[in-house]
Amino acid sequence: MSERMPGFGGPALSRLVTPFYEAAGQGKLVIQQCDDCGFHRHVPTDICYNCLSWAWHWDETLPGTGVVYSYSWVDRPINDVMNNGNPYDYAVVELDGTTGGPIRLLTNVFGVDKSSLVVGLPVKAAFDPVKGKYAGAGGGYGPAGADAEATDVGPIALIVFEPIEGAAA
Ligand SMILES: [Zn+2]
Repeated sequence: MSERMPGFGGPALSRLVTPFYEAAGQGKLVIQQCDDCGFHRHVPTDICYNCLSWAWHWDETLPGTGVVYSYSWVDRPINDVMNNGNPYDYAVVELDGTTGGPIRLLTNVFGVDKSSLVVGLPVKAAFDPVKGKYAGAGGGYGPAGADAEATDVGPIALIVFEPIEGAAA
């Protein structure tokens, strides 16, 4: 369960995405980067969709900032377990400092309301620890049927965003 959004479960983990969530569990935003052409990519894939290289690493040098590219508010959750009486947002945040096409994360922005969450709002990454486990494959995080390789994972977190104090959209 997400600490900030108690109705949210953990992400479905797999060989490629687990390190992303484990890094977040350690307070780091990492994005996959091609060793050959330098392009960043997300969601993680085995092969670079720019140059088809199989060589890549997790880039830990990004600033962890970005801007709101798009958003929507959920006033009436379709699932009662996510209904805490307050509207919440879904947002697409475009990260700063990436190479190649823009890297955009589907996420939530906290610390905003309907008047302050706007396109172009500068934001910084924050980390929302995921507690507990599903009774998925091997007892790991994620829904039943999740990648069996991902059942032995360290603490994980979701990456969410908060406004950068003093920055205007
Ligand atoms: Zn490449």
